[in-house]
Amino acid sequence: MTDAKGDRSRRPHEQANPDSYVHIVERNAKGIVISGTKAIVTGAPYMHELLVMPCRNMGEADADFAVCCAVSIDAPGLTIAARAAGRPGEKVEHGEALFSRKYGQSTGVCMFDRVFVPWENVFYAGEWEHSGHLTYSYATHHRHTCIGARAGFGDLLIGAGALMCEANGFDPGRETHLREQMVDLIKITEGFFACGVAASVYGKADAHSNTFMPDPVFSNIGKLLLATQIYDMHRIAHYVSGGLVVTLPGPDEDHNPETGASRPTCCARTRPCRTRSASRRRASSKTSRPATGAAGTA
Ligand SMILES: Cc1cc2nc3c(=O)[nH]c(=O)nc-3n(C[C@H](O)[C@H](O)[C@H](O)COP(=O)(O)OP(=O)(O)OC[C@H]3O[C@@H](n4cnc5c(N)ncnc54)[C@H](O)[C@@H]3O)c2cc1C
Repeated sequence: MTDAKGDRSRRPHEQANPDSYVHIVERNAKGIVISGTKAIVTGAPYMHELLVMPCRNMGEADADFAVCCAVSIDAPGLTIAARAAGRPGEKVEHGEALFSRKYGQSTGVCMFDRVFVPWENVFYAGEWEHSGHLTYSYATHHRHTCIGARAGFGDLLIGAGALMCEANGFDPGRETHLREQMVDLIKITEGFFACGVAASVYGKADAHSNTFMPDPVFSNIGKLLLATQIYDMHRIAHYVSGGLVVTLPGPDEDHNPETGASRPTCCARTRPCRTRSASRRRASSKTSRPATGAAGTA
């Protein structure tokens, strides 16, 4: 959906480089031919098809840029420059990042150079008046799902935060300043999750397509809450954990025979503590609702 956009102060047809937005360069009896760049596409390299959509309202002069279609991932003329899942510099195993190859996501810049799309895969081509509605409808769905994804992430932070408190020798239930921070973290996560639930409960069938539409107000408010409070979530996780989460060497160092044995005993509590799984259960019990999506309670 998100085009490269070029000069953000100009509309699509005003761009010096028309490839800043994906657009139709040719129409024939069999289909359309498109060129341009979609700049931020999650999971692009490992999809069967790319769903190309407009990312903004369009005017009549932008008609060639008003295009929505499905493009096969191996269509001639399509090039994807992907950013690998994982952090830059992360140690790889069998050519891939150890953790994020399973849980991380790759993103890609998709460059269309005269890509042919048959009419059966074209949903609209040139009907610029519908671009605003299409973008808004998609965004409502996207914001709804994003709430679920970030609530799962919030659960992970809550569980990890509780475990870090314990590793530092504190019981977050007893230590007032930690309890307040953990309550804030839970309040934020459950607050926007509740908007996601409300968006589902108050959702309605779309009058034209009959597909289910989440309630747009709750979807948008939930997305606003999560997008503005995500920084607080990180701040709180950092507060309850301390500086070690930023400065510790990676997990490889745990297996270093020179330092591996002594380091954990000075960095973490030495009193007997509950098993890791018991701590996890306790951390997950802080969130009383079921886990959401792939990222459940830690
Ligand atoms: C992790 C992640 C995954 C994503 N996955 C996808 C995906 O799968 N598919 C997809 O389509 N998109 C995806 N997005 C993109 C997301 O939708 C974009 O971040 C969003 O559309 C904003 O576009 P942009 O980043 O180009 O910023 P812009 O909207 O271009 O904004 C850049 C800056 O310019 C300002 N600005 C922009 N336009 C104007 C204007 N007209 N007047 C004044 N100021 C302006 C903005 O306020 C901002 O400061 C993803 C983003 C992230 C972070």
